[in-house]
Order: sequence, then structure tokens, then C-alpha cells
Amino acid sequence: MRVLVLSDIHANLTALEAVLSDSGDVEAVWCLGDLVGYGPDPNEVIERVRGIPGLLCLIGNHDQAAMGIIPLSRFNHDAGAAAAWTTHTLKPENLAYLRSLPSKITFEDFTLAHGSPRQPVWEYILDLQTADVNFEAFTTDYCLIGHSHLPLIFLREEANGKAHLASVAWGEQMPLRPRMILNPGSVGQPRDMDPRAAYALLDLKDETWQPRRVEYDVAQVQERMLRAGLPERQAMRLLAGW
Ligand code: ZN
Repeated sequence: MRVLVLSDIHANLTALEAVLSDSGDVEAVWCLGDLVGYGPDPNEVIERVRGIPGLLCLIGNHDQAAMGIIPLSRFNHDAGAAAAWTTHTLKPENLAYLRSLPSKITFEDFTLAHGSPRQPVWEYILDLQTADVNFEAFTTDYCLIGHSHLPLIFLREEANGKAHLASVAWGEQMPLRPRMILNPGSVGQPRDMDPRAAYALLDLKDETWQPRRVEYDVAQVQERMLRAGLPERQAMRLLAGW
């Protein structure tokens, strides 16, 4: 089974459409949360995602903020302003869809969480120490996460029980090897200084992970953000990818 793994779309419909067309035919789509927040298309993104056949979808911290269950004080000024705009803009049925999403899913050899298996909505896995403790927090061979917007792969050698970072070139297929924590990066707001939308293709039969990038029309999204009155700084960052 070929699975499209994506995360952190952040209400960027243009980037999402680029990923859906670049990924080609897939049997399933696994979305690791943060459908909304920052971007100009929260309703359009939810409606597009929820219609995808074979979808597994998680809730992220920005989705919770849009539902009003996280105080906006937990966000920086711009993110809080965008979250308030999102809450105001979302149709009731799309808010209800966000409310229906789980924070963690286990599917065969995979645990799916937005932030981390230990703390599914909020924790960032950015370093080896945090990866080490999180390898103890799931029992499947692999864990898929988003949240940091950074495409990172942590591999734990069972011999010494320590995590280290693995790297693979864009478009290259890396064999999966137990155990790993894999992050596909962000579709709608990459933060690794590469503005292209990031995602991954997972092949369950061949047991491979292929991280990929695709260009999209950033200027078009920036224009919609400014027209909607979203913070200018959030529009600018899309061009540089931070
Ligand atoms: Zn996010």
C-alpha cells in the first residue's frame, strides 16, 4: 500500500493541491494534524482533506486553538491573531470536523501523533534527548509525527538504545528499519529555509520512506493572506521557508 504522509497544511490550499497532484496515485492519506492556523483557506482545506478516500487524520495544536480549547496566550502574537481569525472564519460543520479528530492513532506497525507519542498535541521532538524518551512512549516499530515543520528522521539502534539522526536526499527511497520516528515536514509552512511544500510517500509493501518537495505558487497564497487581514509577517515567511 502506498501512503501519502502529510502534516501541518496550515490552511494553505495551494500547497495542499500541489502535494496531492505531485504524489500521484496513493491508496491512503495520513494527515498528522494542524489543518488550519496561519493560512487563508481553513474551510477549503478541511473540506478538501475530509473528502479524501482512505484518510486517517489527527488533531494538532492549531486545530485545538481554532476550536477555542487552548488559550490564545499559549501562542505568540501573530499565531494568536491568526487563530482568532480562523475561529471566526470556520463554518460550524468544519469546526465540528476538527472536534471529531483523535490525537493519536495506531495502524499496524505505525503510531501517528501530531507532536510526539508521549504528548501527542504539544511536544516538539527536535533533539536526540527528546527522541530518546519518546522511543519509550510507543510500542510499534515506527512513529510518524509533524508539529516542528522540520523533515527529520530519528533512528534508534537497538544495540545501544540511543537515537541518532538519519538523513536521506529528497526523492530518494530510504528502507524503513525498526525503530524510527519520522517527520514528513510541513505542507503549508515549511521552516527549514526551503519554501517548497514538504511531504513523504510511505510504501508499506516495500517498507520505504521517500521524503519529497514540490513547488507551489507562494505569491498567490500571500495575496490571499493579506486580503484576509492576516499578519503580514506570516505571509512573508512563506517565501523564505522559516
Ligand atoms: Zn504546525
